[in-house]
Amino acid sequence: MKSRVLTADFIFDGWQLWPHAAIAIDEQGCILQFIPQPDERQLRKADYFAGLLCPGFINVHCHTELSYLKDCIPRGTGLVNFILKLMETRHDPAFSPDIKLQAITLADQQMQQAGIVAVGDIVNTLDSLPVKQSTNLYYHHFVECMGVPDDVAQQRFEQAQKLAATWKAHTSFPATIIPHAPYSVSDTLFRYIALQDESLISIHNQETAAESEWFLTGQGSMRRLYDTLGISFHQAAGCGNTSLRHVLPFFFEKNTSAHKPCQLILVHNTFTPATDIQWATEQFQDSIYWCICPKANLYIEQQLPPLEALMTFADDRIVMGTDSLASNDTLSILEEMKCLQQHFPSIGLENLLRWATWNGAKALHCESWLGSFTPGKKPGVVHVSSIHQQRLSSESRSQRIA
Ligand SMILES: [Zn+2]
Repeated sequence: MKSRVLTADFIFDGWQLWPHAAIAIDEQGCILQFIPQPDERQLRKADYFAGLLCPGFINVHCHTELSYLKDCIPRGTGLVNFILKLMETRHDPAFSPDIKLQAITLADQQMQQAGIVAVGDIVNTLDSLPVKQSTNLYYHHFVECMGVPDDVAQQRFEQAQKLAATWKAHTSFPATIIPHAPYSVSDTLFRYIALQDESLISIHNQETAAESEWFLTGQGSMRRLYDTLGISFHQAAGCGNTSLRHVLPFFFEKNTSAHKPCQLILVHNTFTPATDIQWATEQFQDSIYWCICPKANLYIEQQLPPLEALMTFADDRIVMGTDSLASNDTLSILEEMKCLQQHFPSIGLENLLRWATWNGAKALHCESWLGSFTPGKKPGVVHVSSIHQQRLSSESRSQRIA
């Protein structure tokens, strides 16, 4: 069997940066050996890359089915306006099934080229199914469920069950039913979702200040969302808790002994107060991952998540996502890392890379074959160029090389 040795200024193994280390891989890209200090002979036959090599990136939150909406929704108008515009544009007949499929195909290819190997993909439709049947990426499908009026809960849940069954029947990937967000899912629907025997759930969390305001006081711009959509208000309005404290207990009530332990990926967390992060971490420590999508947060709310607080309480559970092309100009984890480095200059490259690789693989339950340069795994090898003093530069590019 032919093997290749790869070396670079730094090798990131999934946990830390190793200067001038090397990896040996086979023809299929399987890791044969991690070599922290290669000798002269090993270095002579190694292929050298300027910059760093790391395992393939994990994009924990995306909506590939919305890829056709690139540049369609104005920036910086806030989440309520964003959602209303999205719902209006989604049903525009100008976007034919062909146009949608072309956009999804391109998004899938661009993610592969940028070094992404696995994606947590929110689905409301089967629009991306043909792409998923021939892709080289690994996908976990999150079948999204929403419904505020109490009397639609059962019907919405059954619809999601049917959609999840179709996804599972026609692809090799897992599909789990998830709630869209605290403000768009009734307590009854939350109970249906929480009681199913699913172990991996994702939910949009505190993406706007209006979300917790609605739960705490029953006031604010969420009212405009319900009014414009012509639906009744969420029943938990003014319950006195933040949205996070209202919804998390649904998933961790010990009311059925047969219930599998649940793992929850909280997405965005842009307006999560440090007190909520500390509370959630203390209550449900091993069960929660915090996914950040900084470029989408800037696109929609012009705000970034409370990264210092997340690092204080949950550094080993931070993961990264791109969100969709409706709220981002790229589906690139490297670009999300650059954005974070620019706005939080004190964050080290090791932290960013760990969130983008190993932590993400654990969050999507694919750490047994992705996320680190452990022998036996086939995690993808990504070259990141233009690294200066252990920092990304604006010229840094990521490319899958094995
Ligand atoms: Zn999203």
